[in-house]
Amino acid sequence: SDKIYTRLPLIYSHSFFDVLLDMKASGGELGWLTWPLDQGDKPGWEVVQKTLNGSQLYTYSICNVGEREQDNWLRTTFIQRRPSASRVFVELQFIVRDCNSFGASSLTCKETFNLFSSESDADVGTTFRKGQFKKVATIAPDEITGKKELRINTETRVVENLSLKGFYLAIQDIGACVALLSLRVYYKICPATIQSLASFPETVAGGENQALREVSGECVENAISEGLPRIYCTVDGEWVVPVGQCQCKPGYEETEDACKECLPGFFKAEASSGKCEPCPANTQGLDTGALFCPCMDGFYRAPTDPPTGPCSGLPSAPRDLVATTSHLSVGKLLLSWRPPEHTGGRTDITYSIECLRCEGPVCQSCGEKIRYEPANVGLTLTKVTVSELDAHLNYTFTVEAHSGVSAFASQAMPQAHKLPLTNPPKITSMRLVKQNPTSLSLSWEVSPKPRVQARPIRYELTYRKKDDNLDVTTYTVLILEKNSVQIPDLSPGTAYLFRVQALGSDGSPGGSSIEEQYETLSEGHLAHNNTAVISGAAIGGAVMLLIVVIVLFLHRRSVLFFFLNGFQLKPLKTYVDPHTYEDPNIAVLKFATEIHPSHITKQKVIGAGEFGEVYRGILKVPGRKEVAVAVKTLKPGYTEKQRQDFLSEASIMGQFAHQNIIRLEGVVTKFKHAMIVTEYMENGALDRYLRDHDGEFSAYQLVGMMRGIAAGMKYLSDMSYVHRDLAARNILVNNTLECKVSDFGLSRVLEDDPEGTYTTSGGKIPIRWTAPEAIAYRKFTSASDVWSFGIVMWEVMAFGERPYWDMSNHEVMKAINEAFRLPAPMDCPSAVYQLMLQCWLQDRSKRPRFGDIVSLLDKLLRSPESLKAIADFDPRVSIRLPSTSGSDGPPFRCVPEWLESIKMSQYGENFTCAGIVSMDQVMQMKNEDIKNIGVRLPGHLKRIAYSILGLKDQTSTLSVFAV
Ligand code: AMP
Repeated sequence: SDKIYTRLPLIYSHSFFDVLLDMKASGGELGWLTWPLDQGDKPGWEVVQKTLNGSQLYTYSICNVGEREQDNWLRTTFIQRRPSASRVFVELQFIVRDCNSFGASSLTCKETFNLFSSESDADVGTTFRKGQFKKVATIAPDEITGKKELRINTETRVVENLSLKGFYLAIQDIGACVALLSLRVYYKICPATIQSLASFPETVAGGENQALREVSGECVENAISEGLPRIYCTVDGEWVVPVGQCQCKPGYEETEDACKECLPGFFKAEASSGKCEPCPANTQGLDTGALFCPCMDGFYRAPTDPPTGPCSGLPSAPRDLVATTSHLSVGKLLLSWRPPEHTGGRTDITYSIECLRCEGPVCQSCGEKIRYEPANVGLTLTKVTVSELDAHLNYTFTVEAHSGVSAFASQAMPQAHKLPLTNPPKITSMRLVKQNPTSLSLSWEVSPKPRVQARPIRYELTYRKKDDNLDVTTYTVLILEKNSVQIPDLSPGTAYLFRVQALGSDGSPGGSSIEEQYETLSEGHLAHNNTAVISGAAIGGAVMLLIVVIVLFLHRRSVLFFFLNGFQLKPLKTYVDPHTYEDPNIAVLKFATEIHPSHITKQKVIGAGEFGEVYRGILKVPGRKEVAVAVKTLKPGYTEKQRQDFLSEASIMGQFAHQNIIRLEGVVTKFKHAMIVTEYMENGALDRYLRDHDGEFSAYQLVGMMRGIAAGMKYLSDMSYVHRDLAARNILVNNTLECKVSDFGLSRVLEDDPEGTYTTSGGKIPIRWTAPEAIAYRKFTSASDVWSFGIVMWEVMAFGERPYWDMSNHEVMKAINEAFRLPAPMDCPSAVYQLMLQCWLQDRSKRPRFGDIVSLLDKLLRSPESLKAIADFDPRVSIRLPSTSGSDGPPFRCVPEWLESIKMSQYGENFTCAGIVSMDQVMQMKNEDIKNIGVRLPGHLKRIAYSILGLKDQTSTLSVFAV
């Protein structure tokens, strides 16, 4: 510890600290103990009043330079410690006289003194035992004071691993001429802070054994977060790497580290970092904190309209209805009209025709006796041909204009199209009203608002824990008669997935449902949401008709369908393993569209897949635009098993729909040559692409790519799909640099991936990308995908460099088990590297979730200046590049030998011309210097720079640095 010292001004400008003892502040009344008590004619430490720069101060001085074997001690009073401050800083200001100025006495004169410390649970008063003190450091002045000027030195030392109630410090003089001007004892703290709407308490900075203190935060009032927000307090008292963020609840927006209600006339439908938006056209917002703006009278929203969008009015009547008959076609007429004057602001206008036939005064509906061409309802054109009319009868035709909202204005609803009562309304939003450790209160909105019905609407609420283990899942189903509920008996600090669906009056589920995830508070956490509990909605009341708890034993995460009391229960949207289908061909048909091979044109081979060539091609389906596609083929001579494995990738891919997941266009299964057709990604695989464009992208662009991959992975993990082979080679890039996750075959890790290495249990695993628990006992989860994502981040920042370079798989596993990690790639932003390290935490439950990762990357992209701080090479955690470290052999004797060892001999002349001829000079080189001597290629620059880093610390004989 005595190597670590910091000059004071630096500490002042960056950190907060608490002072435990300050000699200057106590004036002359210090009461420190001196030892030995009996000094004879040479006094020991004495309090001396000095005038420095015009001000008076008390110092402790000693100057027994002429005597031999001096051992004079000065001990502080008992310094109480704050319980969590295990590491304190001792800052000393002192003057030491030059021994040469003492003439004959200079023989015994010293120019250093020693700092000691001794821990104790109680103040021992004037008892002093030298043996109880441990040496902290020898203090030597940077500048000694001669005859003329006084030279003041400031030195800071750290006392680590304190554990008792307090401690003493002592200064031992061994024959120097010293004046101690000041002694201050302090420790560093990370001050209480609010970051991303999460508040974190003041925290004492950790010591060597806990360099980063993890601190959990709480969302500020009216803010919520998916996971517990976390942050780390560094030894230097700085907060770093916030994980997870809080967002203002629906109806609230962020203003100065707090969440304020939306003003009247504004709304916010979701928990987000966005602002409240003004109420859209034809809506009204009278209250504060609105989630939606209800429609003004006479305006409506159609079920397909977003609840946050404007409302629209009813169309006016069609105009100028004309009937035209023809002599040539008896019993037939053409009706035509002009569109309504007012469309109510909508474009989905349709028409319906109603016909009455009248014989004398008696009129009745024409029923099915006549024919309409093209139809009598849902017409989009303003004409219709009516035929099979009887001669000599009077017909009355009524044409009505409808729009998407007509069904919701009962006065405008034509009889024929009145909504059947069984049609349940749509759930438009769900919100969390109150959150406790063991219960959650929810409410939801419906559209249209229920009309008076014979029976009130009932709702089916399904919920389950969102835990990793999907092998056994418990679904709870509640049938409710109110649009709110309080659910008791939940586990604390646990995420649950909720789905609510309205039921028709016959008990059939409505077409649409809403799914949300909410989390109970962790234990000991007080709810800071003071919204009133929804009245009368507690479980156990009369509102609940039925509770069903079902335990689904999901074999390989298959999805089973249950019928209960006539209600269908569908599990929440999860990925379905095609293996659960007895006939995999049925799975393909279910999840993929069949394409006719004549619609596909293969143009050029672009890659080789496990099952056959991959082509670039064109897909032209009649009636649809031509699109560029990639076509994967199945080589001739395949077995039925190979065909099924090949098509399983399509069965999986077909279940996903996300911007950052490769999109399946369709499959060819009904012809001899099976094919899988996906969107075409112009720039191919990410690892190759980055290697080909080494150094060409900014950190901002690279972080943008990672953000895309993280968003795709969040989607997959939300669907409970574990990828198992996430690596840059399995990410594809298009011409707008968008990155998409690919490679979903079931056998892909086993057969396809050249990185796959057989393990002792026979399976194949891409070791460098795989989390330790997945290698050790095949625990593949979204958390192990997060580990792989960390490796992908590293690959991206290192422009496609191979992770762990040419270390063997065995060396990689050994280093990881010994807590070493990949070093930060060159020029990697510190925040990005910190995130990588988080992804590589041994304890998988501590790794960030993909949701956290997306939020953090978004945050970095929103403030690009956060990418400016570049990560340092940290020898305490970093693996060193083995082939360039030179640690296996003797140190390099000359520059050419070293360049040879890292295969960079071509730069020998550059080094010589620049006058760099010794290894000592090499070790002084900075990245800038390497560039300046003419090393331009980023890959070479990196290799040389890493090697120099390795040379600087050759204390270890392993291929890794010692901590
Ligand atoms: P795969 O069998 O999926 O690993 O594909 C083999 C190679 O074909 C990949 O490494 C890519 O170079 C190329 N490839 C596969 N799919 C596409 C695509 N959708 N767009 C462009 N290239 C692709």
